[in-house]
Amino acid sequence: RRGRTDALPEWPRSVHVEVNGLEPGRDYWYRFTSGGQQSAVGRTRTANAPHTTPPRLTLAVASCQHYEQSYFAAYRGVTADAPDLVMHLGDYIYENRGTVRMRTHEQPECYTLDDYRLRYALYKSDPDLQAAHAAAPWMLVSDDHEVANDYAGEHSFQGDSREVFLARRAAAYQAWYEHQPFPRRFMPVAGQQQSYTSRSFGDLVSILMLDGRQYRSRQACEPEPLVQPCPELYADERTMLGAAQERWLATELGASTARWTLFGQQTLFAHFDQSGDGPLAYRADGWNGYPAARARLLETLAERRTSNPVILSGDIHAFAVNDVNARPEDLSSAIVATELVTTSITSIGPPQSAFDGWRTENPNVRFARSDRRGYIRLTVEPEHLRAELVAVDDVERADSATHVLASFDVAADIPGVVR
Ligand code: FE
Ligand code: CA
Repeated sequence: RRGRTDALPEWPRSVHVEVNGLEPGRDYWYRFTSGGQQSAVGRTRTANAPHTTPPRLTLAVASCQHYEQSYFAAYRGVTADAPDLVMHLGDYIYENRGTVRMRTHEQPECYTLDDYRLRYALYKSDPDLQAAHAAAPWMLVSDDHEVANDYAGEHSFQGDSREVFLARRAAAYQAWYEHQPFPRRFMPVAGQQQSYTSRSFGDLVSILMLDGRQYRSRQACEPEPLVQPCPELYADERTMLGAAQERWLATELGASTARWTLFGQQTLFAHFDQSGDGPLAYRADGWNGYPAARARLLETLAERRTSNPVILSGDIHAFAVNDVNARPEDLSSAIVATELVTTSITSIGPPQSAFDGWRTENPNVRFARSDRRGYIRLTVEPEHLRAELVAVDDVERADSATHVLASFDVAADIPGVVR
């Protein structure tokens, strides 16, 4: 097929083409021609038709790619895999913060639409990131750094006034839409963007991409550096997804006929006490900081008899493989889901020694490595899911190869992981 569309200057020449009527479950290739120039050829793949069972679905799961902290060598592995789908769980861009190691933004902190557009242009100038986009279709959710660190709904975490922050967030959402392969229904309206969505791959996999950032309540109690539970933390009205998204999710799960249910979302879901020897303490920004919202999601999974739930997460700059308990803080309660946390593509993680220290308190965390950058290669088959944790060999080389650090299996109808 071919078609024409206008690349308008007010949309910095970005176009969002929707091609309908393609055959399900097969590869397609595409390119753009403009002003006598021709783009590289991209490959995409359509989802499988309803009520078919493809033998497998392959995914790459990525998150957290601070440009200044390393090269995007992990994406060389993704491109070589050419998976059916790349899933990105947020922190696609970053602010000017943290350690600068390999290369620099050399741009002002992002507040305006022009600032955010320049930031995406810089990241997207990276050839390995470009190649990964050309290698497969992508689904993405944004996390905090697409706007600003640890923001919650309409609240800045760092003290921007409400007026300043809402303008900043609107600019960030707009630039994100412009620079990512989203359908036009994701276009932001009045500073809001509805980007949670679902996609089924026949009866094999249902993917739900969740927005745990735009509608969430503020972090509770004293959130820095770790939160120690106070009564406010447990308040029923505190939300991660917002009421509308919670209702949508319940409806989607009720209607799903898929064997496997993959949740693509931003932050750590399983119980993870980071206190060491002290009293219980959590990172306030993940689901441990939103226990009532987490309990509601788990209740919905149980009510809708969700088939083989696997929660995919990013944010902590570490690989982690976790069993999720029915009552997450009660590790003697039944295991009801598996969580696979992908490490960062580049962003520096907490020291491995800290993770090692936390492990004894958290036997549900079956594996944790914060000292590697990379992604998760996921292969889903009707009776079996395999997660290969793919690590970059040498973070100081833009052309580094990758290797499989560890792999884990999940058997259908048996929640929890087997190494
Ligand atoms: Fe991050
Ligand atoms: Ca994050």
